[in-house]
Amino acid sequence: MEYAGLVENSNDLIQVVGFDGYVIYVNRMWRETLGYDMADVAGLNFFDLLHEDFHCDCQLRIQVLLEGQSIPCFEVVFRAKDGRKVIAEGSISLYIEDDEPKGIQGIFRDITARKETELALQTSESRFRTIFESSVAGIAMLAPDGTFLQANPAFCQFLGYVEKELLKLKITDITHPDDIEETLSRRNIALANKSRSIVCEKRYLCKDGTEFWAQLSSTWFFDEQGKPLYTVPVIQNITRSKEAELKIRELAYYDSLTRLPNRSLFNDRLEQALANAHRLEKPLALMFLDLDRFKGVNDNLGHAVGDEMLRQAADRLRHCLRENDTVARLGGDEFVVILSDYKNDDNVSQVATKILEALSCPFDLAVREVFSSTSIGIAVSPEDGDNSADLLRHADMAMYAAKGAGGDTFRFYSEEMNAKAVSRMDLEANLRRGLDKKEFFVEYQPQIDLQTNQIAGVEALVRWQHPSLGIIPPDQFISLAEETNLILPLGVWVMRTVFEQCVIWAQSGWVPFRVGINVSGRQFTQDDFVEEVCDLIEETGVDPSLLEFEITESVVMHDVEAAVVTLTRLRDLGIRMAIDDFGTGYSSLSCLKNLPVSRLKIDKSFIADLSSNPDDRAIVEATIAMAKRLGLDVTAEGVETAEQFGFVQGRECDEVQGFYFSKPLSANDVASTWLVSEGKDSD
Ligand code: C2E
Ligand code: CA
Ligand code: CA
Repeated sequence: MEYAGLVENSNDLIQVVGFDGYVIYVNRMWRETLGYDMADVAGLNFFDLLHEDFHCDCQLRIQVLLEGQSIPCFEVVFRAKDGRKVIAEGSISLYIEDDEPKGIQGIFRDITARKETELALQTSESRFRTIFESSVAGIAMLAPDGTFLQANPAFCQFLGYVEKELLKLKITDITHPDDIEETLSRRNIALANKSRSIVCEKRYLCKDGTEFWAQLSSTWFFDEQGKPLYTVPVIQNITRSKEAELKIRELAYYDSLTRLPNRSLFNDRLEQALANAHRLEKPLALMFLDLDRFKGVNDNLGHAVGDEMLRQAADRLRHCLRENDTVARLGGDEFVVILSDYKNDDNVSQVATKILEALSCPFDLAVREVFSSTSIGIAVSPEDGDNSADLLRHADMAMYAAKGAGGDTFRFYSEEMNAKAVSRMDLEANLRRGLDKKEFFVEYQPQIDLQTNQIAGVEALVRWQHPSLGIIPPDQFISLAEETNLILPLGVWVMRTVFEQCVIWAQSGWVPFRVGINVSGRQFTQDDFVEEVCDLIEETGVDPSLLEFEITESVVMHDVEAAVVTLTRLRDLGIRMAIDDFGTGYSSLSCLKNLPVSRLKIDKSFIADLSSNPDDRAIVEATIAMAKRLGLDVTAEGVETAEQFGFVQGRECDEVQGFYFSKPLSANDVASTWLVSEGKDSD
């Protein structure tokens, strides 16, 4: 055979097998691949070489060949001498010698390596497919221009489309109109910076036109030249918590009766207006309004009629003012107006007169027409004060002056009105002296666990025993102490006193309980606050895990990043953190999620009106639910009545604090009334 060398040295696996199954010839490649020597081959039966799964197929093929037909290329698995599987691809035909079919000849190629790569690819591809298909997060793939290339079932389901529809759309087609600009700018930034990923919250538009809030994390992929290839947005449904948050905000910042901003939003607007006025060196006027006849209407004609009167008054006020002015309801029949864009005091008088006229028209209250009048007090910044507290206080004083003059009139604030009140200068001097003379002391108000009805902690509250004025409550000196920075030495004194008290309690063998300490913004934002706390812990030997610091939302929101650093350092010391007076600031609940705090204390103003104000009920309810969802403990403050207690007890509230259980007590009284010795049962 002149071609024998060619066959023997071919890179294919070539074999000739007799009809009895015994191998007649195999070439070098065949032997090398399957690991047999020349000597092994003679006694080999082909069916021993073939993986048993292929025996049947092979016999069928031989049959077909014998019937004179040809066989297309096929795959087969051999078993090598060492047991390895060798996958081969090839064809067979009849082996003819002397015009007689003597057996079957085959020519194969080893495709094991290729097959294994294919299989590995398939496995990883199908693994990713599964993740993509079954993920509860929506995952899509977009071309750089925002066209959909792929979207998983969750993504489609979130937005109410089938994948085929999405593939005809761009991301901007399903973005909420208000968020399109931001979406495009995010994309431009990502492309310009070659940044790989962004995380944000964004609104989509579902097929049925409804809004879908998502937490989006989007990753960009670039080729080696930095050309964008595609982007993969992953979205999670946060619609429910967003809606809850907006609802809480609406409830928390608007008065449901009149739809006017409430006290919280007003405080915020006033701060803003003051900052603007200061920056632009423009005046700002604050009006404090009180309806002269409201109490009579409410008492004699009933709340429903009183409410209607307030609603109409609110509408009239709105009509008297321009869009940039703010009118808010502080509660009851007290309204406030902020005027920020006017030329001189005459303009303010004109607006006041207009309001007086509008509110003196008879109110049509279904049952009858009611005549009323109004008293207005006006304070102007900067003359009457450059901060919101002073302005409000002065406008309030001026309002009383207007009422004192018989009502139905307005008064500008004047210095004489202030003469009666204790001068701030005096108070400041007193405060300094009081610190030196140790006129301060601390009381402790128990906080009750709603599960056990046992004491869970106490809140330390500072008092000032003034030699001639008697006990002055903190509300009357804390803000002054803050303004004059005296809060810093006072704060250190409170901490030291409370820490020492904790040690005394611990040594007396009481079951350990938490002790809350109010920390003012001034203290908290001091550079060395944490060091100061560390020093005091060391000095007194207090166990920091018993301590809980209370700060208000506004302190945190003022500079969230700095606050997180301080909060984290305090937490690392073992001190727990609580947000105090929750609901009175203007913070977003979703912001709290990222803070290392463990407790919310719902402000007592919400608890106070639970029985009369459905808004407050809704706020308290929603706040508790939301806080629980964020994993925070909740304390209701200012619980005075069984009814208020019952309300919060029926929700998921953890603790209550208030006169219903106990007023603030001296350290000894806390111990004798509330504490249980370790090892002893409570009674
Ligand atoms: P806060 O932190 O909201 O403290 C709770 C206040 O609610 C206390 O008033 C407490 O006596 C009062 N309270 C408790 N239960 C009830 C209740 O059932 N009904 C009513 N109407 N009130 C209740 P207090 O002691 O006059 O303190 C007023 C504020 O002064 C505190 O409000 C806190 O912001 C501040 N304060 C008190 N001690 C300190 C302190 O050591 N440092 C700082 N920075 N601030 C303090
Ligand atoms: Ca507090
Ligand atoms: Ca509080």
